[in-house]
Amino acid sequence: MNLNRFLYFGDFIACPLAIAGLLLAVLAQGDLTALGMWCLAFVAGCMAWTLVEYAVHRWVYHAVPYFDKMHDAHHQEPKGMIGAPSFFSVALIFAIFYLPLYFASHVFAGGFTSGILLGYTAYMLVHHASHHWALKPGGLLYRLRLKHMVHHFRGEEGNYGVITSFWDHVFATYIEPQRRRAS
Ligand SMILES: [Zn+2]
Ligand SMILES: [Zn+2]
Repeated sequence: MNLNRFLYFGDFIACPLAIAGLLLAVLAQGDLTALGMWCLAFVAGCMAWTLVEYAVHRWVYHAVPYFDKMHDAHHQEPKGMIGAPSFFSVALIFAIFYLPLYFASHVFAGGFTSGILLGYTAYMLVHHASHHWALKPGGLLYRLRLKHMVHHFRGEEGNYGVITSFWDHVFATYIEPQRRRAS
């Protein structure tokens, strides 16, 4: 989906604000046990995000009709402002993760959702940087970019993970980037 700047960059503001709100909510309780559980849930959410990122990219964007067409627009025009619209994606994350978990534990729901939101923000940042920033060889972002360029231009299906290759190794879809200039 083609987005204007507001809908393309809006989540870079909305996600940190949502995380800050969820953190303030647990801090306001003044309960160290609750804060400890929030932090554990946060780490679990960060780790869960990496699987969400892989699964959505591989089994939704590259497999489900309609979504595959929308994602193909990004493959056709990698530098375009194309993607899921800001605010809608944050609302979706709350609907899928926060609401169901809230009924079990609102503290766990807050921490876990914050971890997912941080992972999503990291994904957006790495993906934007991969296509738009002039990255110097040697750094982490440059290596992540090379890996993502293989996903775009090698003509093989693989490297679905953006911020980590972990699940590509687990599901045997990792493709080693050859040493060449990134496109
Ligand atoms: Zn793709
Ligand atoms: Zn891309």
